[in-house]
Amino acid sequence: MSEKRVYTFGNGKAEGRADMRNLLGGKGANLAEMNLIGVPVPPGFTITTEVCSEYYEKGKENVVALLKDDVTKAMKQIEDIMGKKFGDPENALLLSVRSGARASMPGMMDTILNLGLNDVVVEGVARKTGNERFAYDSYRRFVQMYGDVVLGMKPVNKEDIDPFEAIIEQVKAQRGISLDNEMNVDELKQLVVLFKKAIKDQTGHDFPENPEDQLWGAICAVFDSWMNERAILYRKLNDIPQEWGTAVSVMAMVFGNMGETSATGVCFSRDAATGENIFNGEWLINAQGEDVVAGIRTPQQITVEGSRRWAKLAGIDEATRASEYPSLEEAMPEVYAELNGIQDKLEKHYHDMQDMEFTVQEGKLWFLQTRNGKRTGTAMVKIAMDLLHEGEIDEKTAIERCEAQKLDELLHPVFDKAALKNAKVLTQGLPASPGAACGQIVFFAEDAAKWHADGKNVVMVRIETSPEDLAGMTAAEGILTARGGMTSHAAVVARGMGKCCVSGAGELVIDYKARTVSVNGKTFKEGDYISLNGSTGQVLEGEVKTKAAEVTGDFAELMSLCDKYTKMVVRTNADTPHDAEVAANFGAVGIGLCRTEHMFFEKDKIKAMREMILSDSKEGREVALAKLLPLQKQDFYGILKCMDGKDVNIRLLDPPLHEFVPHDLKGQQTMADEMGKSLEFIQARVKALQESNPMLGLRGCRLGITYPEITAMQTKAILGAAIQLKKEGFNPKPEIMVPLVGTFKELESQQKVIKATAKALFEEEGVEVEFKLGTMIEIPRAALTADKIAKYADYFSFGTNDLTQMTFGYSRDDVASILNTYIDGKILEHDPFQVLDQEGVGQLIETAVEKGRNANPNLKCGICGEHGGEPSSVKFCHRAGLNYVSCSPFRVPIARLAAAQAAVEE
Ligand code: PEP
Ligand code: MG
Repeated sequence: MSEKRVYTFGNGKAEGRADMRNLLGGKGANLAEMNLIGVPVPPGFTITTEVCSEYYEKGKENVVALLKDDVTKAMKQIEDIMGKKFGDPENALLLSVRSGARASMPGMMDTILNLGLNDVVVEGVARKTGNERFAYDSYRRFVQMYGDVVLGMKPVNKEDIDPFEAIIEQVKAQRGISLDNEMNVDELKQLVVLFKKAIKDQTGHDFPENPEDQLWGAICAVFDSWMNERAILYRKLNDIPQEWGTAVSVMAMVFGNMGETSATGVCFSRDAATGENIFNGEWLINAQGEDVVAGIRTPQQITVEGSRRWAKLAGIDEATRASEYPSLEEAMPEVYAELNGIQDKLEKHYHDMQDMEFTVQEGKLWFLQTRNGKRTGTAMVKIAMDLLHEGEIDEKTAIERCEAQKLDELLHPVFDKAALKNAKVLTQGLPASPGAACGQIVFFAEDAAKWHADGKNVVMVRIETSPEDLAGMTAAEGILTARGGMTSHAAVVARGMGKCCVSGAGELVIDYKARTVSVNGKTFKEGDYISLNGSTGQVLEGEVKTKAAEVTGDFAELMSLCDKYTKMVVRTNADTPHDAEVAANFGAVGIGLCRTEHMFFEKDKIKAMREMILSDSKEGREVALAKLLPLQKQDFYGILKCMDGKDVNIRLLDPPLHEFVPHDLKGQQTMADEMGKSLEFIQARVKALQESNPMLGLRGCRLGITYPEITAMQTKAILGAAIQLKKEGFNPKPEIMVPLVGTFKELESQQKVIKATAKALFEEEGVEVEFKLGTMIEIPRAALTADKIAKYADYFSFGTNDLTQMTFGYSRDDVASILNTYIDGKILEHDPFQVLDQEGVGQLIETAVEKGRNANPNLKCGICGEHGGEPSSVKFCHRAGLNYVSCSPFRVPIARLAAAQAAVEE
């Protein structure tokens, strides 16, 4: 904890720098940096993130006391630079108070503008500027924001609109006007009075008139907003530790609402949705920042090109566009030229796509913020590859720039072209975040979350979204809003999540109370299906068919770049030729786990399987196994053929047998009839198979040791398929894996059965195929005695699902109820079944690799538990020296990127 709590900036000087983001937050650090590189930024100061932690440790009063002197000094500096005084009615300095954490959390925390106004100061501002409308517009905005953020003025019911917006609507309705900026001075004055009264009525608080009180109220509210529900949820979703805290940046206000030569806007140095290298953004004349993102007025495009594209989508002709919605480039060409120059300078300075906020006060441009822009998965890949080609970054940086988990978005299905052609377009909105989404309509965030938890796909339909909707947006397949532009809350957050979003579909008429949305004469209820095309902005009726994504273009180039640096290869967990094929298209170089049990659940196989299990003699079992053999052989033939020339690791039967037997009377009767036995006999067998702890019971290699004939049948099926393929000129490379080994004797005993079966089969067929024999390491004892086990194994595959279960002693099937309590209570940081516990389970892996390779230097090691597709776990596997990771098909590219990143980080 450093003694310095406040860092000032202004007039081209700053106490902070860009690389101090941990201390100053992203916003504070970049405000400092922009000062240092000559970008026009209003003067201000940043209170550090460490103070946020102090705030939660020592409490409000103590922290205010600790800050008082430093803030007073910093305020003096702002006053000197601006030549104004805070609270002085004749020459008032007004402030903005903004949050800013180390990682950007767009829209999750709070901002307050126009701070310092009260009933007296507002009069002075009006006199001094000669612009009463501006003074009262700023004042009503301030009361509104302060009421919301500091005094907790929120809608009472979820169906209600914002209480301040409701008042604004009333006032506008009196005179029949529709736009906020059409309100006259009297109406703005009226708003201030009505707002203050509503605050008092609803919250019991008076609006504070003293600017000092306002300032401290706002600073504390920003610290408080670190712990608001949506910020907590956002951190959870994005793995941001609570300890980081938020900084508070206090800046002199510059005003975009001073008249027709003033404006405010948000812009991006590249397209955050597609990644194209096109400067873009939105602005509003005579407005303040929140107007652009809140979606109340329709924002205009920054560039002519963007404006024309927007007008085409919105169905607006060129003449109307140019007169009513001109771009900044047309309306304020000089300001535009400066803005364009600075955005380019900032991107080159940070070597990354920038997301910037600016204000034009009476023709003068000011920057209020810059940050590395949130982007979709597609944009992430394109921007990284483009920056590489432009020579802005090198190959390793390009790999590190991409977030492995975010590749997931590129693997989701896209609309089938033919289906799209035939789909009925209901209306057109803005293509705010690309992708294909189909689902049932819901109108409220909590319903989205609830329906999603019930296994439904939903599309959340809102007039506009607010940060409160985060949980619902997370749960939805897609988001559709009636209001708001490309930089609205919905658009920005959806792009950050990589979620399909169509915003600003102005033809939609949404009725929250009736839970309906109408468009062009059609009405849809909650629960009806719609589809969204986030790439074109089209809203489509019903469910439109989708197809699998492909690895092409920049994505393919990134993947081959990964292959250049990676030390581990990536295989897949697949039980069917179809899954294997999907994974191979995503770059899997083999199969790391083929679970044979899933194959038994198919129609004809389950009968033979049940017969085998329910028999009470070896002979009976052998009859049933003889029926299973050709069926299994066919399965393995398919997989080995589809993965020709690649390693295919097939695991012998693993789960407890009771999972296969019929538990219902009808099923039991059928089996009795099929087998010519009595119902009582079948029921007695089923009962005998019941275990109180099946996860620790008769499963894994214990099955093969109890019933060696099962191991023999599976070996015959695997090698028989391989022989057939070899005869047909293919190059099968099977691996046979023994599960759940705890002592080397288990493996030794299974090895004998496998080798004897293989020998007999090869002699019989007159053909030999090479195969490897390995084991899973998924019991702690196996990891600890890996040296002995390795003498019988060509390879180890870490089954970290069971290894986690048995290391923690948490049942895989029952842990869910405990996990939430543990994670909320910070007893566990993550679900250890998703994110590998490197400290405990990881130690067992490291031990096993070391001991195993000491005993058998050729030992190959891989992982096939769920962790094999989770980026931080993949990186651990690299450090532990594994040869490969294996994961489900749709995680293969994620694992490839994470593996390359691990190599680059090294
Ligand atoms: C494991 O235990 O990690 C594993 C891959 O096997 P299964 O999940 O089938 O038990
Ligand atoms: Mg297992």
